[in-house]
Amino acid sequence: MNDIKLAILGGEGTGKSALTVRFLTKRFIGEYASNFESIYNKHLCLEGKQLKLEIYDPCSQKAKFSLANELHWADGFVIVYDITDRSSFAFAKALIYRIREPQTSHGKRAAESAVLLVGNKQDLCHVREVGWEEGQRLALDNRCQFCELSAAEQSLEVEIMFLSLVKDVLANFKLKEKRRASGSRSMAKLINNVFGKRRKSV
Ligand code: GDP
Ligand code: MG
Repeated sequence: MNDIKLAILGGEGTGKSALTVRFLTKRFIGEYASNFESIYNKHLCLEGKQLKLEIYDPCSQKAKFSLANELHWADGFVIVYDITDRSSFAFAKALIYRIREPQTSHGKRAAESAVLLVGNKQDLCHVREVGWEEGQRLALDNRCQFCELSAAEQSLEVEIMFLSLVKDVLANFKLKEKRRASGSRSMAKLINNVFGKRRKSV
């Protein structure tokens, strides 16, 4: 069974918990505890595979900390901003840059991982501060998927959003497996070349 770990990150009050709870229960309850972090589990069947999904929803205070653990732990990231709050978009941008940062502080794991940027609270688009195109641009420039939606009003869209991230994670797993397989094949060839020749010459 495939184990998939997702971290949902973004500024305080952007709707990280609302999105997670919406995905898990199809409900929107309005107020969410923000003083503790949680890891939720969900079983899924996707593309004929049984998947065990773990979703990490940090408490808001922690969102500003170093991220090193999250970057190392997660296979995929949902980065959330609030379309009515420009500073949350700047925070999302900083998070994406941090994830895509090459290899330095957190190893190569996060830089290549699946990332989905979400502009939440689309139901409040009459007071929007961040344009759809800006979100789309940021995502395109950093190899992320992008969508705008509303945790408050949309259930299906939230589900589709999580599932398309999971699909990206699975595609990444496959790619890594392939690389590993071809890596060990070329190693076998090398060994065969070196030792095979030697054996012949004896
Ligand atoms: P978190 O700090 O990122 O976990 O944010 P929460 O999930 O606690 O949400 C912060 C506030 O925004 C709460 O009052 C939610 O009810 C509200 N909220 C979350 N999503 C939406 C949305 O899509 N539309 C609207 N109008 N409010 C939302
Ligand atoms: Mg929260």
